[in-house]
Amino acid sequence: MRIFDSHCHWADARFAGERREVLLRAEAVRVRAFVAVAAQACDWPGLVRLHHYFPQVGVAFGLHPWFEHTPHALARLPVWLQRADAVAVGECGLDFGVGRASREQQEALLLPQLRLAHAMDLPVILHAHKSEDVLAMHLARLPGLRGVVHGFHGSQQQADKFLRLGFYLGLGGMITFPRAQRLRALVASLPLERVLLESDAPDQPSFGRKPPNEPAFVVDTLGVLADLHGLAVETVAEVTWQNAHSLFLRKAHEVE
Ligand SMILES: [Zn+2]
Ligand SMILES: [Zn+2]
Repeated sequence: MRIFDSHCHWADARFAGERREVLLRAEAVRVRAFVAVAAQACDWPGLVRLHHYFPQVGVAFGLHPWFEHTPHALARLPVWLQRADAVAVGECGLDFGVGRASREQQEALLLPQLRLAHAMDLPVILHAHKSEDVLAMHLARLPGLRGVVHGFHGSQQQADKFLRLGFYLGLGGMITFPRAQRLRALVASLPLERVLLESDAPDQPSFGRKPPNEPAFVVDTLGVLADLHGLAVETVAEVTWQNAHSLFLRKAHEVE
């Protein structure tokens, strides 16, 4: 069995000094490939260094709507994507939760990143919270753009929109909570060939796990996803592995 963690924050300071152990614990439960996302320019150099030491970790660079960024960061993004042989643009997106930047500010940050991903033929890793319909509208304007809406927790109708646009839906620890009944019912109806597994570590620990979250815990999400689809975990692990592999251009390096 091999499991692909399609979204972790590998450069996060909460992993400092423990990355090798975190990786070993992930490998012990057969989590063997990772996409590490960096959400702001100050994380990019660290992620390049980590990629050097841990080549099984594919990297993605983006500018996340939660943070403030300089215009310089956006201008430098293509250089960093090329330098590290990035597998995707991200994490970027739209978050219309309380206290976030205005829609206009967020769109001004996101749209150049979508156009860049499109122009570089890279998939995009998207964060969406209370913004799914607006996001889908922007994606529809860039036919051919590929990617994933990570940590998906929208409605069935919104899921259908993203699937029609050819996007994948990333599922993480949220689906492991028994009280997440609406989300679980939706997940049970999703076509498995359009779903990716993710940890979002060190955030979003699965049910019963203490923070910080780590990629090894993605097995909890795998177990729930397999249950909801009435399939063996090995089957679901392999389908979601293939999904992640084909989305990220077969560039995310693996350990066999
Ligand atoms: Zn996110
Ligand atoms: Zn994230």
